[in-house]
Amino acid sequence: MKFSEMPLRIPSEKSLAKKIEKLADALLAAKDAQTAIKVVKKFFKLSDDLESDLTIIQIRNSINTEDPVYAKANDKLDMILPVITGQFQEFEKLVYESKFRPELEAKFGSLFFKQIELGFKTFDQKIIPELQKENQLTTEYSKLIAGAKIEFRGETYNMTQLAKFMSDLDRQTRIDAAHAYYGYIEAHDEDFGNVYDGLVKVRTEMAKKLGYKNFVELGYYRMSRLDYTPEMVAGYRQQIVKDVVPVVKKLRARQAKRIGIAKPLFTDYALTYLSGNPKPVGNSEYLVGKAKEMYHAMSEVSGQFFDFMVENELMDLDAKPGKMSGGYMTFIPKYKSPFIFANSNGTSHDVDTLTHEVGHALQGYLTGNFVVPSYRMPTMDAAEIDSMSMEFFAWPWMESFFGEAADKYRFQHLDGAISFLPYGVEVDDFQHFVYEHPEATHAERCAYWAKIDKMYRPWMNYDGFDYLKKGTIWIKQSHIFQSPFYYIDYTLAQVCALQFKCEMDKNREKAWKKYIKLSKMGGKYTFLELLAKDGLRNPFIDGNVKKVIKPQVKVLDSFDDSKF
Ligand code: ZN
Repeated sequence: MKFSEMPLRIPSEKSLAKKIEKLADALLAAKDAQTAIKVVKKFFKLSDDLESDLTIIQIRNSINTEDPVYAKANDKLDMILPVITGQFQEFEKLVYESKFRPELEAKFGSLFFKQIELGFKTFDQKIIPELQKENQLTTEYSKLIAGAKIEFRGETYNMTQLAKFMSDLDRQTRIDAAHAYYGYIEAHDEDFGNVYDGLVKVRTEMAKKLGYKNFVELGYYRMSRLDYTPEMVAGYRQQIVKDVVPVVKKLRARQAKRIGIAKPLFTDYALTYLSGNPKPVGNSEYLVGKAKEMYHAMSEVSGQFFDFMVENELMDLDAKPGKMSGGYMTFIPKYKSPFIFANSNGTSHDVDTLTHEVGHALQGYLTGNFVVPSYRMPTMDAAEIDSMSMEFFAWPWMESFFGEAADKYRFQHLDGAISFLPYGVEVDDFQHFVYEHPEATHAERCAYWAKIDKMYRPWMNYDGFDYLKKGTIWIKQSHIFQSPFYYIDYTLAQVCALQFKCEMDKNREKAWKKYIKLSKMGGKYTFLELLAKDGLRNPFIDGNVKKVIKPQVKVLDSFDDSKF
């Protein structure tokens, strides 16, 4: 079905409650396992229908925030969702405690029950006030960022608009823009500090109410982590310090030489080439045409999938007035349809959407038939492998997107993938400190950042920026406020995506098969189980990060970037 033809259905709280009640009665009355299995399947269907209705409303609202019908429907969802979530959890509890549990577990797999357990571990009626407070505070952070009106050279900009000037070809422009950008954060330092302190306190409070020592363990459960611990993550961060930081240090020296600056400031690193960043050679319609050719050449299944996306209008790519910012991939279970939302703006980011988000979408397409809804998509650490690896599988087609600038793009992409790792684990290290020491002050938190910044990113030079020298640059990273402990997932996935890169450099066909196998497993297994089943190296084992990085440093060295 085409996206425009999918009907709008606003879920009714009352009718859902009735349906859930009916299912609960049927489950309790079930006389044999077969009946219980049928009832649980009906529950999955109900959950899919609801999820589809919600997703369609959310997509249409994000495409046009000014359409009152979808804005109103979306507001209604905000109100009824917590109630519905509670009702669904009640039903899941009955499934969990069912006398037919062994048969249900044999039918649907034990992970489904572990996932229900995660629900119990992370939610209880008694923390609702804290959860509401948490939502208010994260909204306050968004408002502080989104509401920024910053004067710069006679014009007023928001933070995203201003950030563009921080990678300007002219050095003085980069420096002045950075002063304006961080000047705004400095002027609101107390507000940001208070919002974050409130978040740390309220998260610690809910952890204590649920019986945890601090927020760390709860934070891991909220990310659905079932098979790795803070200790394993700490060991992984050490691998990055030992085996990646020296590599990135060299890359920054190489960049300094390339852009002709002897002693670069942190803001100089935003400029990759003196000749400017690679830009796509056409608008989004052109790029979609090229992507269609690419996915057909890549494999049969990717070709069919991409045609499905185009024929059913499952991509909304162009930036337009009234559209929400950002980009995402989501899934409409009822029509087994992935959906990609983006804001194309003529930068290399437009191509990233057609590789990264399409990687997510292909994974969703391949597991759309799974009966257990929660098995269709893996946890975020694994989900990002599907998308980040697709960025690399698309390399041979970069000429059709960037023309002569294709190599410039490839070099920048691989450099960026490796250079991201130290920053990614720095954000994670910081959060462990914060939630293990919830009593620390804003100044103490910043001092900790300043300390570890020297370890993870010794090339960062903040001369002339006294405010940033205090360790305050983390304030611009929204994940630290909004999604605690999420950030490490991107780095774990990147290490795995780089493994696919190493393998495709040796044997592309074999690597592709392995990639499709991983995507097809969806979320049927936990992160480390998925890696083991797909024959991928476990990033937590000492030495594995180095094994993945080394061959790709050679690839970077094979480029003559002095020409770019
Ligand atoms: Zn992604």
